[in-house]
Amino acid sequence: MINTALKIPFVDLTLQHEPIQGQIEQAIQSVLQKGDFILGKALAEFETAFATACGVQYAVGVACGTDAIALALQAAGIKPGDEVILPANTFIATLIGVLHAQATPILVDCDPETALIDLKAAEKAITPKTKAILPVHLYGQMVSPQQLKDFAAAHNLLIFEDAAQAHLAEREGYIAGSIGKAAAFSFYPSKNLGAVGDGGIVVTNDPDVAQKLRSLRNYGAPQKYIHTEPGTNSRLDTLQAAVLNVKLPHLKQWNLQRNTAAKEYDVLFTSLKNKGIIPIQNQSQTGHIYHLYVVRITENCPINREILQTKLADLGIQTGIHYPLPCHLQPAYKYLGYKEGDFPVAETLAKQILSLPMYPGLSQTQVKQVVETIEQLLGAS
Ligand SMILES: *Cc1c(COP(=O)(O)O)cnc(C)c1O
Repeated sequence: MINTALKIPFVDLTLQHEPIQGQIEQAIQSVLQKGDFILGKALAEFETAFATACGVQYAVGVACGTDAIALALQAAGIKPGDEVILPANTFIATLIGVLHAQATPILVDCDPETALIDLKAAEKAITPKTKAILPVHLYGQMVSPQQLKDFAAAHNLLIFEDAAQAHLAEREGYIAGSIGKAAAFSFYPSKNLGAVGDGGIVVTNDPDVAQKLRSLRNYGAPQKYIHTEPGTNSRLDTLQAAVLNVKLPHLKQWNLQRNTAAKEYDVLFTSLKNKGIIPIQNQSQTGHIYHLYVVRITENCPINREILQTKLADLGIQTGIHYPLPCHLQPAYKYLGYKEGDFPVAETLAKQILSLPMYPGLSQTQVKQVVETIEQLLGAS
């Protein structure tokens, strides 16, 4: 019998916020009283705490993850005309960040098992103009730091990590954000570490990059009213930083809870492999922080993805697709000259992937209900 009384949301942030609600309100009150809304004390405190958590020297808060990517590239000297390699299967903001830095984005395909950037494809895309690689730690799993470092060293490229989905992810002993020239994070509310609005940060070990970032985010003025370079207004609000200061100490625990739920999914899905449902592969064990838990509904599956998604929704289980259209096929970026067929793996994945409920506090019972419901729908189709 199919259980029609389920109610499993895709994400549930209230579970995360309830126990610390009082602390969050206090932190906000304290900023209201102080009135240091722009570049205030709580921001400086959060920058120090976040840099320490990532194992790097510097962190500079900015308005959002998109700006973090653009400003990181700019601050490290990426210039108009420089080519930056990035995966085609990412959230569009990765591409927008590169374009806002006025660099030339070079998209490449991904690995079918992990959905992470394919470094062999990246190697083929290198030209004399290539200056950097921008790997995306997609769904919370880091691209292999050792392979990235070897790749960058062999081709004399800078590494900029898009770590918007990978706060405190680890792999091969490295923490996300610590492996390249600089890394970008987002604090969009549903990320593993989320603000109560937009926010972002750049981390780096390079003091010059950090200093340049502080200027760029603040109208290009290292000194008030003296503008030494063309900057912008992109700061992380003190209010948002105050909330993030309360949440950061809980992040490791929340990530662990996600990883535990994912392990449960993995175990239950082993019996559905012959039915054509295959989870995206985890190659970094506990270091994978599962921003999303994604499975592939392959052509061997008796039910098509859209029908499965609708039926799950009817039964009270919310799912998502991250992302249904790869960057190179987005209407706004036709002018970049890509076409269907350019990145076959990314295109196939976009048609197969389904993101299942995943958030800290998702219970073992709920995971079981999700997988059992899928199993029953397959049996009934
Ligand atoms: C969320 C996200 C961004 C952008 O962050 P915003 O804060 O929304 O600007 C960039 N890259 C990836 C992979 C993301 O998931």
